Amino acid sequence: MKVYKFGGASVKDANAVKNVATIIKANSGELLVVISAMAKTTNALEEIVALAYQSKNYLDKIESLRRYHYKIVNELFQSEDIVKQKLDKVFDELRINLKTNLAYDVTYDQVVSLGEVLSTLIVAEFVSLSLPAKWIDAREYILTNSNFREGKVDWSMTKENIAGLRFHLEAKVLITQGFIGRTQDGLTVTLGREGSDYSAAIFASCLAAESVTIWKDVAGVMTADPKRLATATVFEELPFKEAAEMTYYGASVIHPKTIRPLANAGISLLVKNFDNPELPGTTIYECRVKRIPPLIVFKDNQCLISCQVTDYAFVTEEQLSSIFRTVADGDIKINMMQNSAISFSFCVDYRESKIKPLIEELSKSFEVYYNTKLTLITIKNYSRELSDEYRGKKGILMEQQSRSTLQVLIRDDDFPSKRK
Ligand code: ASP
Ligand code: MG
Repeated sequence: MKVYKFGGASVKDANAVKNVATIIKANSGELLVVISAMAKTTNALEEIVALAYQSKNYLDKIESLRRYHYKIVNELFQSEDIVKQKLDKVFDELRINLKTNLAYDVTYDQVVSLGEVLSTLIVAEFVSLSLPAKWIDAREYILTNSNFREGKVDWSMTKENIAGLRFHLEAKVLITQGFIGRTQDGLTVTLGREGSDYSAAIFASCLAAESVTIWKDVAGVMTADPKRLATATVFEELPFKEAAEMTYYGASVIHPKTIRPLANAGISLLVKNFDNPELPGTTIYECRVKRIPPLIVFKDNQCLISCQVTDYAFVTEEQLSSIFRTVADGDIKINMMQNSAISFSFCVDYRESKIKPLIEELSKSFEVYYNTKLTLITIKNYSRELSDEYRGKKGILMEQQSRSTLQVLIRDDDFPSKRK
């Protein structure tokens, strides 16, 4: 059996949904399909939760979300009442969830998860018009702990649950949600933003699928973001390890958690273009590629923090360990770091709500300096020419070069090729 995953862009309007149905129909054999929320629905739902918790009006936003989904339904179906009734129930649930007095993160998951419920209801109904298909509630299969907004999967329970789907797969295409699961207590949990790829990997590994295909608006995994580097090309094949490292450095083409379950189970991951399904795309599997072309990852919105010791002392290991503890306690990931005699510098994603408190905390023990509006450029398998080109750029605040990887942290103002 195979697993297909379609992201928000692939179901953004009625024509996109028709295209998804065509791709599903072209597959022969058992298939489970994982789908994300339509277009920017997840962002809209996040805003709705935020407004509700600030006691601001969120009803208009719900209404425009309802209209957006209704419009797609109107365009897809001749008799649309049944689908609309199903959607209405979800919107009722949404409103009820906003009125509870639960902790923010709990409500967030109950509400933000509904985007996937809406999209899969529509797609499943539409595919059913031409093919035996069944809507599956992913929350009945993927069980997690209660770490809301970033649920941790209980693999043994999940595996047992998902095994129950085998029987249905024989007769029908199964259509389910990405991004969501459920706790033991029956509350919905999300698996982290952009987590639908991960859901596809979970279903695939529990069903020992032969492959997972992620259908995207790009031609495959590319050597750089084509919007930033017109010369970017598609990798035909990539070893799992290489793909995993790319996601670590910030390549957003695949969610970072996706690779591990697939690599462990030896399941190939295909990244293909939904507008040109006949193109080969990229195949990620346990392979040896003789010479992997250089890969360039641009990570925007970086912040460089330097902790300087005062009083002519040097940075000690105790101080380093206290810095790491503070960073870890703030649930922050370091993207690059460097130390010198009197300071330790590191680069992180700039999220004000996390970084401001971090700087405040570090300032208790160090003299702290920081810069924002930076881009971190990582080049894996760099060539001599690329090294010269990027190390020679203006506005570099920090750089690092190992045998395989080169990283430079650049001020946005000095980096003219940046996408606007
Ligand atoms: N809809 C969710 C998000 O936008 C999950 C996903 O798209 O993978 O984060
Ligand atoms: Mg999405």
